[in-house]
Amino acid sequence: MALEKLLRSIPKVDEILKAPELQDHLNRYQREIITRKVREVLDELRSEIVSGQRQKPLEFQEVVNLAQRKIESFFLPPYRRVVNGTGVVLHTNLGRALLAPEAVEALRKVSGSYGNLELDLKTGKRGSRYDHVVEYLCELTGAEDALVVNNNASAVILALSSMASGKEVIVSRGQLVEIGGAFRIPEIMERSGAILKEVGTTNKTRLDDYRAAINDNTGLLLGVHTSNYRIIGFTQSVEIADLVQLGRDKGIPVMWDLGSGSLVDLTPYGLPNEPTVQEVLAAGVDVVTFSGDKLLGGPQAGIIAGKKEFISRMKKHPLTRAIRIDKMTVAALQATLMLYFERDFLTKIPVLRMLTEPPEKIKKRAQKLYRKLIRAKLPAEISLDKGKSEVGGGAFPGTYLSSYVIKINPHHLSVEKLAKAVREENPALLGRIEDDKFIIDLRTVQEEEIDYCQKLLEKHLVGDRK
Ligand SMILES: *Cc1c(COP(=O)(O)O)cnc(C)c1O
Repeated sequence: MALEKLLRSIPKVDEILKAPELQDHLNRYQREIITRKVREVLDELRSEIVSGQRQKPLEFQEVVNLAQRKIESFFLPPYRRVVNGTGVVLHTNLGRALLAPEAVEALRKVSGSYGNLELDLKTGKRGSRYDHVVEYLCELTGAEDALVVNNNASAVILALSSMASGKEVIVSRGQLVEIGGAFRIPEIMERSGAILKEVGTTNKTRLDDYRAAINDNTGLLLGVHTSNYRIIGFTQSVEIADLVQLGRDKGIPVMWDLGSGSLVDLTPYGLPNEPTVQEVLAAGVDVVTFSGDKLLGGPQAGIIAGKKEFISRMKKHPLTRAIRIDKMTVAALQATLMLYFERDFLTKIPVLRMLTEPPEKIKKRAQKLYRKLIRAKLPAEISLDKGKSEVGGGAFPGTYLSSYVIKINPHHLSVEKLAKAVREENPALLGRIEDDKFIIDLRTVQEEEIDYCQKLLEKHLVGDRK
């Protein structure tokens, strides 16, 4: 009896649809989707009543509010802007590299209009989409030729398929890595049709190990950057130049999967020494592969650079069509590469700017946010402190960059609740939680995002002051 009365308090769909609060939505969106969302709310309420969770009859306005919230949350973009307060510059979950304004502008120009993606404007004849970036890549890396595909994982598969299908590829056991998202060198090798020939041990591999493994069916000597993992202690690996010499002596090509693939020596900025793409090619490696959206600071892409004889074979490989880049990638990559020729490219390419920014400049931004938060007299313990940022994206694991952070310990809500509240906003704000404090690392927060951070923190910290 009571249950029946409760169930009868559920309004009809049509009544809800007449509510003034829903009229804007109905004017903008198709009626079917709005109706479906309202039905979902009513179904949920019905289950709550039947299961005994709800004991009081429903108020009409309450149901309207629930429907409105349901519709608004449906149209809140699931993929949206995030203010990155984590201090991880190449955060894979946050889309890795952010593009320079010049690259964003290039995207805008060719995405809303036509462009000569596969047309040679000089001859009026069909051209190749790769031609727009090859010359820049060759100038920057010293390679004879280059090819760009969807991402570095597909670049490695293409290179192996094209250079070593049905042949043995010699790799050090210390480099048989898995890189986030199930990119495992042994499995990639199998997919490409190449036969993995492991040599050495996890911590030590010598040139003689490679030499002893070479036979008539050896197709490639492969080096892999161990990226997000590091072996410390008693280790030994082969110098690139020595592997190249061995390859030359035996007539076997050498490939290096660099992963992050920096075009810049970052040691003056406190990062460990890593050979640049140019250095690896200059050492005589035949083919290198690296990502477009890691240290390069461009769009997602896999760049293959090296000797013409190998690259031109890859360009004709059937797989290339399946993993080709789209016009957006061509535009953003072209614009990013062009920035590398500018004198102040280190500040123009956001990833490089963030990685090379002196801590004193980060401190200025941290002070700005700190002062705003203090002035707002928020119910929280707030401090400005030194902190440590990371490169991310599998580059320079275990290396930390000195930074400045804001630490927040709310008086009236838990740190987890604060983190969740600002994370669900649009744009979202992401920080770290350390020692029961919410931390915002200013290395990865842009100047123009500071006001927004303050506004958001104020909203959620004050919102709970009761
Ligand atoms: C990141 C990485 C990859 C995968 O590159 P994606 O661009 O993410 O596909 C492959 N190899 C190495 C060594 C890497 O660091």
